[in-house]
This record gives sequence, structure tokens and C-alpha cells, in this order.
Amino acid sequence: MINLFNSPRHTNNAIAKAVKSLTQHGISAPEQDRFIAFLQSEDIRSLYHTNPRLIADQFKLSERDTLKLLVASLKEGIVTLNWDIQCPVCQGVDFAATQLCDLRTLHVCPVCHHKHNSDADQQVRVTFSIDERLRSLSKEADDLAFRNHIDAQYGVVSGHRLLTLQMFRELFPRETIPPNESLLIRQVTILFTDLAGSTALYSQRGDSQAYSLVNQHFKLLFEIVDRHNGAVIKTIGDAIMATFTSPEDGLKAAIAMQETMQDFNRRLESANPLILKVGIHAGPCISVNLNDRSDYFGTTVNTAARVEGLSQGNDIVFTSSLISQAEAIANTAHYKYEKSSATLKGISEPIDVFYMHVNNKATVK
Ligand SMILES: [Zn+2]
Repeated sequence: MINLFNSPRHTNNAIAKAVKSLTQHGISAPEQDRFIAFLQSEDIRSLYHTNPRLIADQFKLSERDTLKLLVASLKEGIVTLNWDIQCPVCQGVDFAATQLCDLRTLHVCPVCHHKHNSDADQQVRVTFSIDERLRSLSKEADDLAFRNHIDAQYGVVSGHRLLTLQMFRELFPRETIPPNESLLIRQVTILFTDLAGSTALYSQRGDSQAYSLVNQHFKLLFEIVDRHNGAVIKTIGDAIMATFTSPEDGLKAAIAMQETMQDFNRRLESANPLILKVGIHAGPCISVNLNDRSDYFGTTVNTAARVEGLSQGNDIVFTSSLISQAEAIANTAHYKYEKSSATLKGISEPIDVFYMHVNNKATVK
């Protein structure tokens, strides 16, 4: 793949050959062809610290599919990743970070020396550049006015968004910030699930059959999280912890999970179905390095876990942080929810919680 010759023909061949390797990551042939043409002939300014939304718009892809294309390309050495940090005071962008381990809790602007939190929602954004082994980036590639124009037109993709891409976590599991450093996440939606009565499930079905059922349920939930623009941060026994950048995605994923589990149990036709408990809460937290993996910490995470503990199974428990999304969903899909109050362990004041009951269309009487 390394191309030492910079003649256009060699460049074009090298790009085509490199992009064809994306088949193994599920990137379709038409998408590859468009990407080859883009990398071969696009204005060089569009290939340096490229805003992913520019590609999404040109390729008519969702942001998630665009990021998947770029993350697969990163894995295959077609592009490089930049964690660009914009100073909230002078608006200058620091291009120094190319890996998560280059980021620190506090960032000092190289231009105006202002010190600020590395805020993964507002200051840290991700861009991609073509690997210079494929096409050299001449001086003209670095055009600030051009990039500002694109950013103003499309908005930027936050660092938090990339951290919430399942494929990024899978292909780059060891990409983390350094130990003892943290990234501020201004707004994250955290979803916990667990299986109710799994002890009974194991004793009644036997270990191997119960294990197989639990794994099938994991596979279904992982797919739902990915489809709703989220990422599974970890599994804990029969439980998962997933994050979303938008509360709406988190709540819709929760509903899809309960509907899918109802279908799953119907197919199972068993006396002991898998009963899924779900809890969601949204708020700020920090992203840290735990055992060489990116993890999330803070009151928001603890609250989400406690809220899941209130779930009786076959329901979704959420806090007032998701109420406007719940109202919108309830209005269109007729999902009912009730308000209640709960005192959560470790949290001094009682909080409002809501119980949503999801009736799969097939079961609605
Ligand atoms: Zn500055």
C-alpha cells in the first residue's frame, strides 16, 4: 500500500487498491467507488482536516455511515484521524492531537494561552486527512477560510460523537486518553439494561442453554444500540451499559430493545422468558481510561445504574432529563408512562422517575 511514486497514475492506483480493502469492513462497492473518486480528484483542501459532514453531504450518507467509512479507512491506513481542539476564547484550532492519548483534562490554547477543559462535546471535534502516502498534501491543502466555510455550513462532528461509534470502539479498543486524565462530556445519555431473574433462568435451563440465550440477547441489544447511533461501553454479567449523544436515540433504543425482546420471547415460546430491565438518564460526565478502555464516570452514570435498578422488567425507567423526548414519542406512538418518585442510594434528594410500558404492536389488544 505504501506508494513512493507520486505520479498521478501511481497515486490513483494506490488509492483504488487501498479503498478496495474496505470490503472486509462491510463498505459496499458503490460506496468504495465514490470514495475512490473523491480521494483521487477532490480539491486537495477537502482532504486535509476534512469535516466528516462534508463527505456525508456529498455521498448522501448518514453521519453514522460516514463515520464508519472513515473509521474503517483509518484502520486500513487510508486516512489519518485528528482530534482538533477549538479554543473557546480566540476560536483558533489546535491541530496537535492525532490520538486520544494526546488529549489532556486541561487544554492550553497554543495561540492565546487560554486554559480550558477538554470538552468532548464543544471543543474537541474530529476531522480526517488523507494519508500522505496516498496523496501528498501540498501547502494549498491548509486553507483556514475554506475549512471555516465548511464548518459554518455543516456544523462539526464532536469528539464525543466518535467515542460513541461502536465501530470505533471495536476497531480501536485501546484508543484512550492517558491515565489520570479525563475528557468532559457535557451531555450524554446513559442506558443500563439487566436481565431479571437470570439466576432462575440458569437453574431451570442449565448453564449452556441459558448462556446461549443470554448471548443471543446481547447480540440483539448490541445491534439496536449501533443502529441508534450509540455504543456499548461494557457488559457486566448479564447487563450492558450503553451511551448515546442524544436522549432521543437512547429512548428509542430502549423501546426497540423491549419490542425486540418481546419478539424474541414469543419465538422462544418458553415458560421462562428473558425479562429485560432498562433504565436511562442523561447529564454530564467524564470519559476516563479504565483498564486501558474508554469508560464513563460521574453522578450521571451512577444515577442511570440506580434507575435501571428500579425497573421491574418489560418496562423502561427514565428520569426527567428525558421527559421531552418521552412526550414526543408517547404522542406519536401511544406509549404510556407514569410518573413516580424514588430515593436512589447515594443520592440525597428523591428524584422524579417515569415508567414507560412498551406494547409491541403485535400484542396490542
Ligand atoms: Zn485561544
